[in-house]
Amino acid sequence: MERRNILGCLWTSSIFPGYRAPADHVLLRIMIGGARRPELAEKDDDAQIDIALTELREIMGVESKPDFIKVFRHKWAIPQYNVGHAERVEKIEKRLTELPGIFVAGNSYKGIGFNDCVISANQAVAGIREYLKKPG
Ligand SMILES: Cc1cc2nc3c(=O)[nH]c(=O)nc-3n(C[C@H](O)[C@H](O)[C@H](O)COP(=O)(O)OP(=O)(O)OC[C@H]3O[C@@H](n4cnc5c(N)ncnc54)[C@H](O)[C@@H]3O)c2cc1C
Repeated sequence: MERRNILGCLWTSSIFPGYRAPADHVLLRIMIGGARRPELAEKDDDAQIDIALTELREIMGVESKPDFIKVFRHKWAIPQYNVGHAERVEKIEKRLTELPGIFVAGNSYKGIGFNDCVISANQAVAGIREYLKKPG
């Protein structure tokens, strides 16, 4: 474990080239807090910005001042998959086979990434379509 004060940094302008920043700029998204450092999520905007800029300087040598900064706060942002998660999901799925008409989808089950959530949504929709085809 790196023991850094940020959870990570996404180069958003590289993930979506041409959409998130002008050609001679980059847009970075830095995440702070999470299950391991919840106290950092409680800090005020200035303190969090200071943490982010310090980490960027230490990790990547970024010295320039950002043109703009925006702080977004997501409480209960991403589900925490604790030990036993897979077994818990298996139990939920088994129980759902006994409860026709109830479908679940989203980041609580089989992956928090957007791709996983889309797969999960597609599976739920496929199940709903089958269910609605049944008479009665
Ligand atoms: C800060 C952050 C950065 C992320 N970055 C990335 C990334 O770069 N790449 C990636 O792949 N994933 C990323 N993720 C993860 C991913 O975006 C999420 O896991 C995913 O969007 C969750 O989708 P979802 O449909 O399960 O939940 P959500 O998108 O949260 O949708 C749930 C919806 O249900 C609604 N809702 C809640 N309760 C009720 C209720 N009682 N009644 C009616 N509606 C209700 C909510 O308003 C919301 O619209 C990130 C997540 C966060 C928080």
